Amino acid sequence: MARVFNFNAGPSALPLEVLEEAQRELVDYKGSGMSIMECSHRGKEFEPVLAEATDNLRKLLKLTDDYAVLFIQGGASLQFAMVPMNLLGPGQTADYINSGAWADKAVKEAKLLGGQVNVAGNTAKDIPTRMPAIDGLKLTKGAAYVHVTSNETIAGAQYKVFPKTEAPLVADMSSDILSRPINASQFGLIYAGAQKNLGPSGVAVVVIRKALAEKVAATLPTMLRYSTYIAENSMYNTPPTFGVYMIALVTRWILKMGPETLYRQNADKAGKLYAAIDGNPFYKGTAVKEYRSDMNVTFRLPSEELEDAFVKEASKLGMKGLKGHRSVGGIRASIYNAFPVAGVDALVSFMKDFARRNG
Ligand SMILES: *Cc1c(COP(=O)(O)O)cnc(C)c1O
Repeated sequence: MARVFNFNAGPSALPLEVLEEAQRELVDYKGSGMSIMECSHRGKEFEPVLAEATDNLRKLLKLTDDYAVLFIQGGASLQFAMVPMNLLGPGQTADYINSGAWADKAVKEAKLLGGQVNVAGNTAKDIPTRMPAIDGLKLTKGAAYVHVTSNETIAGAQYKVFPKTEAPLVADMSSDILSRPINASQFGLIYAGAQKNLGPSGVAVVVIRKALAEKVAATLPTMLRYSTYIAENSMYNTPPTFGVYMIALVTRWILKMGPETLYRQNADKAGKLYAAIDGNPFYKGTAVKEYRSDMNVTFRLPSEELEDAFVKEASKLGMKGLKGHRSVGGIRASIYNAFPVAGVDALVSFMKDFARRNG
């Protein structure tokens, strides 16, 4: 079996152990004679899977009873719309921190809906890439919520601390959920597409303080209301059962490894790559140091030709997915939870070798 070092930004690497377990259970899930994909979502096989995925997320995020965990189809991008649809009432203003390509999409979606959107800080086009400084944010008194993107996956910039806001803080944590300790009680709503740190694409995890879902326009369609998912335990319609199953396995894997161990390992992995970048003038980090992402390490080489050669040579050595996002170029090493330390070590030694030969 030849597994590569998968630096893809999303969908991205899953823990090998989890894939092997899913494989073992694929054609006959726990003696049912069916795969979990073929089981009724209301049957005795799937019910404990949904419960485990929910409980594991509750444990890992240390959620109190006033929060609900929801599984919603449509990825993180549907949440760009669902958040304002549910939380931005008539006459209210929502504050958005525009930190890059993903935050910018969230802003655009909120504006489409016709509500008042205040951009409280904007670094979306800054080079080097950075997040808006927290003490410079222009927040609105009485805002419906403040939207923040915890990690800009394309730019490779990340908030290390979050603003303390009076209004509920809503966070897109698609690319760094469960990668480091956070204080969930600081947030009114957290959402994340699963395909970076949690499982396969097509399902978003939403963590919401239940009280926030109560005031919603009577005309909002059923499937677009958080209150539907809360009342029906994410089973108003057929949930993305295989995605939820994979999230259960991935979160079980995190609990088994120990979240603190995983968080330390993530910081170490990023630290090694940034040390390799800073240790050689051949490489240039793309993000301002204080906002460097531990999940998406972005950097440039002296020319685009060298960047192309770097990506091609790395790929031949089994390091895949290092090309930066098409909108920004450069190199991006996405090193989410499941990305192994050995892959980071391999990249570091390739970087040294490549710079020596081409510098
Ligand atoms: C990947 C990503 C998204 C989009 O996720 P989809 O599931 O494709 O909709 C949104 N926000 C961030 C920060 C992301 O990294």
